[in-house]
Amino acid sequence: MNVSQLAERYHAVRSAIPPSVKLIAVSKKRTVQEIQALYDLGHRAFGENYPQELRDKQPQLPTDIEWHFIGHLQSNKIKYLGAFTRLVHGVDSVKLLDALADRAKGEGRIQDVLLQVHIAQEETKHGFSQDEIRALWATDPAEHWPDLRICGLMGMATNIEFQAQVEKEFNGLHTFFLELRSKGPGRSYFQELSMGMSGDVEQAVKAGSTMVRIGTAIFGERG
Ligand SMILES: *Cc1c(COP(=O)(O)O)cnc(C)c1O
Repeated sequence: MNVSQLAERYHAVRSAIPPSVKLIAVSKKRTVQEIQALYDLGHRAFGENYPQELRDKQPQLPTDIEWHFIGHLQSNKIKYLGAFTRLVHGVDSVKLLDALADRAKGEGRIQDVLLQVHIAQEETKHGFSQDEIRALWATDPAEHWPDLRICGLMGMATNIEFQAQVEKEFNGLHTFFLELRSKGPGRSYFQELSMGMSGDVEQAVKAGSTMVRIGTAIFGERG
């Protein structure tokens, strides 16, 4: 690992994003040494995709790291995420909301989550449809899941070079986010819009992202 190269990439990414946008360094498949090196440069928010990988790395790293779980989560893997998981980004089913709420309740804490919305043309990407979320909203999720706080939305755009399509998807998600925020439950914590990765961060920020998830542009290509 080349620390000066890491520092250079990190500062380039950070300075290209407005200060108000949270930068989550995606550290899936990175070693604890690489994560520690970025931590030593002052960075604190990291995102992981695989529950067991997060469980294994977390105890080897400083306790003030703010961990985000950004991958596709299966109910039977929730046990690997602990109170150290600050935010679960990719919640894509009612079953998963139920399971996360059960777990949080059992541990006597509140779990913050984002609902993943399917915005891409690819079938492989996960997420609720907008109508499914509208239906949830109508039933007051804060009352239904008192052990969860739905803090916002997350989305992944189609992985293509065609910029207009990516912009359309991000703008559409932002519009939907505003719609939900305006018609309630309107809780003060429904504030986050997690969108943007190395390849489409610029479009995401322009469309109103509050959190970007960046791996490759900071750490280099994954092996
Ligand atoms: C891997 C991953 C990222 C980061 O992707 P890069 O292209 O390396 O920046 C962001 N979000 C999710 C959900 C991912 O799985």
